[in-house]
Amino acid sequence: MHALLVEDDDRMAHALGTALAQRGHSVRRVGRASDALQHAHEAEFVLLDLGLPDLDGLELLRRMRTVCDAPVIVVTARCEERDIVQGLRAGADDYVVKPFRTAELMARIDAVRRRTDLPAGGGAQSPGRVRTGDVEIDPAARTVTVAGAEVRLTRREYDVLAFLAARPGEVHSREEILDRIWGDVFLTASRSLDVHVAGIRAKTGRSELIRTVRGFGYQLGSVGPDGGP
Ligand code: CA
Repeated sequence: MHALLVEDDDRMAHALGTALAQRGHSVRRVGRASDALQHAHEAEFVLLDLGLPDLDGLELLRRMRTVCDAPVIVVTARCEERDIVQGLRAGADDYVVKPFRTAELMARIDAVRRRTDLPAGGGAQSPGRVRTGDVEIDPAARTVTVAGAEVRLTRREYDVLAFLAARPGEVHSREEILDRIWGDVFLTASRSLDVHVAGIRAKTGRSELIRTVRGFGYQLGSVGPDGGP
């Protein structure tokens, strides 16, 4: 993968660049926001320091999002929750707070790449339709049909369902879904996700389409061939 490393600190940039190269990534390192914008379109993922000499990193992130869909991991010394929330709202996919262990950062890069390799994330891949019982989810058309009839979901209801359908065998935590669809892990306590899941179940009339894993999260469920469980 080709990484864009935006970091003005030479020692930090060298350490990160070496770690990325050891994992087989090619790296372009830039120390200024203006150079980051120029090279953002080449990147398959971005590591972004927020403290840059020529522009605030959050503002850079907002501008980058207009030209680049690649996953962005914010690497920051700003450990206040407010900054992290703003980073995620501005379009970051994850963040690590300095000082961090290289192994942790590399694990997060892998996790973000897996998560963003989805239709709703604007990834290059376009996975095929997912079918369970008489329910069919078509990521290319962003449609859901039940027994051949299209069901109208809201954008977020669809995003939640498509996210679960992209990894049908996996259970996803509430935090992961909130981070991915709402861009905000700190919504965990809110009822937004439950309300959306209830909406999907009601509109499709297939309550088993989404399986609740109590105290943890959700998974795509199996619908029987006749629409029953
Ligand atoms: Ca810096």
